[in-house]
Amino acid sequence: MNIYGLTFSQLEDYLIASGEKITKAPFIFKGLYQQQINSFQELLNIRQSLKEQLQTDFSLSLPRLLQQSSGENTEKFLFALQDDSLIEAVLMRQKYGNSLCISSQVGCNMACNFCQSGRFKKVRNLQPQELVSQIIFVQKFLHVTISNIVLMGIGEPFDNYQNVMQFLEIIQHPYGLALGSNHITVSTCGLAPQIEAYATHTYHGLLAISLHAPDEQTRSRLMPINRRYPITQLMDAARFYIQQTGKKIMLEYTMLQDINDTPQQAQMLSDLIGSDAFHVNLIPYNQTQNLGFTKSSQQQIITFYDILKKNHITVTMRREFGSSVNAACGQLRADYERN
Ligand code: SAH
Repeated sequence: MNIYGLTFSQLEDYLIASGEKITKAPFIFKGLYQQQINSFQELLNIRQSLKEQLQTDFSLSLPRLLQQSSGENTEKFLFALQDDSLIEAVLMRQKYGNSLCISSQVGCNMACNFCQSGRFKKVRNLQPQELVSQIIFVQKFLHVTISNIVLMGIGEPFDNYQNVMQFLEIIQHPYGLALGSNHITVSTCGLAPQIEAYATHTYHGLLAISLHAPDEQTRSRLMPINRRYPITQLMDAARFYIQQTGKKIMLEYTMLQDINDTPQQAQMLSDLIGSDAFHVNLIPYNQTQNLGFTKSSQQQIITFYDILKKNHITVTMRREFGSSVNAACGQLRADYERN
């Protein structure tokens, strides 16, 4: 078993079951996540026989790096997991710290038709240790500290709910990576029941919802999930999250020419949001493959932005962060598999 999949309390249970003192758990967690040991022999304040038992019972293995590409303030990683599944992670160096975008599944079943990841059907969910070890790998490899995590890589995190929540418990632990809940963002295509469960979960973090359209017809055309959980139901779940957590939700809106970028749609989006605690992030479409979509012109984006602003909606335009390294969802994997 890979030790990065254990929560702190599971580690304590292991120690008890092994006849050890649970007071050793903090030393082990600090070793894993603060000291970032490469071998159990490096653990501090642990006697030799326990180090050897840990070595017998657990591995410290990390994903294998297949490819790395760097852009301006961005590093993109293509990893192979133990079963040779391919996933991606992207490090974004920002003014406020280093943010790592990680994958949550091998492939994705949501089939949003403008997204590369949806072209590779889901093979399996990532295990908690495969989520955690993306962070550990990048921190060790680049000698950086990651201060923010976003689950916006390949996969739908709420289609892997249990493992993602266990991951959040592990990375928030004060003896571990100690990431605060306001430094962790889960991005979903809109699984309403899981949004509600997340809202009341002990280890919830921030929430981003991929909205991409203000009306049912356009959204159903872009995102099949909308036929299961239409915008009305999605917005109810979103408002429940806001009410339970007191946190704002980010609505992601990828600008697709002549599909979701008209002034009428900007007005509809404003009406949908009303005065609630939402923040709209307009994302330029990252156009690399022939999926039949074109990015909106700068002028269309600005017009759309201005209408939201005029309606007192909080709105930002995302810089085209990943495009120089093909960091839009699923692109590195798609390129790799083509070659
Ligand atoms: N499944 C989750 C997280 C992964 S996708 C979700 O849907 O939120 C991360 C974000 O990138 C989503 O908002 C997705 O719709 C968007 N996206 C996918 N392909 C894109 C592209 N080519 N250009 C811009 N945004 C894209």
